[in-house]
Amino acid sequence: MSEVRHNWTKEEILDIYNKPLMELLYEAATIHRKHHDPNTVQVSTLLSIKTGGCPEDCGYCPQAARYHTDIEGNDLMSVQQVKAQALRAKSSGSSRVCMGAAWRNVKDGPEFDQVLEMVRTINKLDMEVCCTLGMVTENQAKRLAEAGLYAYNHNLDSSEEYYKEVISTRGFEDRLETIDNVRKTNVTVCSGGIIGMGEKEEDRAGMLVALTTLNPQPESVPINALVAVEGTPLEDQKPVSIWDMVRMVATTRIVLPETQVRLSAGRTQMTREGQAMCFFAGANSIFAGDKLLTTPNPDVNEDMEMFKLLGLNPQKPFIKKMQPETVEAEDSKFQALGEKPKWSRPEHKIERNEEAKEKAKALR
Ligand code: SF4
Repeated sequence: MSEVRHNWTKEEILDIYNKPLMELLYEAATIHRKHHDPNTVQVSTLLSIKTGGCPEDCGYCPQAARYHTDIEGNDLMSVQQVKAQALRAKSSGSSRVCMGAAWRNVKDGPEFDQVLEMVRTINKLDMEVCCTLGMVTENQAKRLAEAGLYAYNHNLDSSEEYYKEVISTRGFEDRLETIDNVRKTNVTVCSGGIIGMGEKEEDRAGMLVALTTLNPQPESVPINALVAVEGTPLEDQKPVSIWDMVRMVATTRIVLPETQVRLSAGRTQMTREGQAMCFFAGANSIFAGDKLLTTPNPDVNEDMEMFKLLGLNPQKPFIKKMQPETVEAEDSKFQALGEKPKWSRPEHKIERNEEAKEKAKALR
């Protein structure tokens, strides 16, 4: 079974998650090959453009001002600094740059204008540009779209039930509202979560239920393993076992067949064999660079060695396109008003992933 479904139940997803491992891997790999080129993995770079001092209380995050961690806070980076880092990332194989700012929500004003300029700048480098800036209004999402933003990241983090255990300064509904605001534009959605925060398997399944219910489903889903940082409320959590990570990646691949599944935080705790199993199970993106916002990440040269060893190729930008139904919905909205879309929609986002699908078909 590999069609896109929006009506998965928690029980169905748990049954998948708990299958005998070989069966789970086989099913996930089969679905992966049907929708993606199994030898291509996107390399993305995550840049912390504004670090620390965040007023929120996310229990896993060393950037929350209220926790005593040894994170050094930084003001918003300049456009030139961001451009230099993006060029460096591109030259070492990244096709996507994700800019993260430790904000509760975006505020209109000079700082947001500066971020918009960063988006325009990276867009001109022919790289996918993603932002994770906290909550956004519909109007702010449209301004990001006009600047050429390719993706907006806003993680659901966990199930609706467990979310309250980890964050109290905003609710699960707020997360969904921001995703909804992004969906009103041509920007693609990136939304996933973290495992290893003390949640139950039911919560992992619950988060996947919430993600699959979204229509269209997110084009990108990062799966993070908690990096427990001293000074945060989750500092004593045990590292996530590789078996849990593989099961989570495989289950995500099965229930979100068209989505780009991103192997995100926690890779320094994984062996190459463990990461290879995650790629086999359907992960088709990693984050490169020695830091993931503030937590450690493997060195880019080590990753390139791993790619060589496994015969993987870094993905070019804009391979995973916008879901056609989003494009149609957008067009019909404007047609009904007798207007043309007010923001540009680069052609590369409309085409489907035909090339990759053909390659995948040939490998079956
Ligand atoms: S995860 Fe984001 S919103 Fe939460 S405390 Fe960290 S920077 Fe702030």
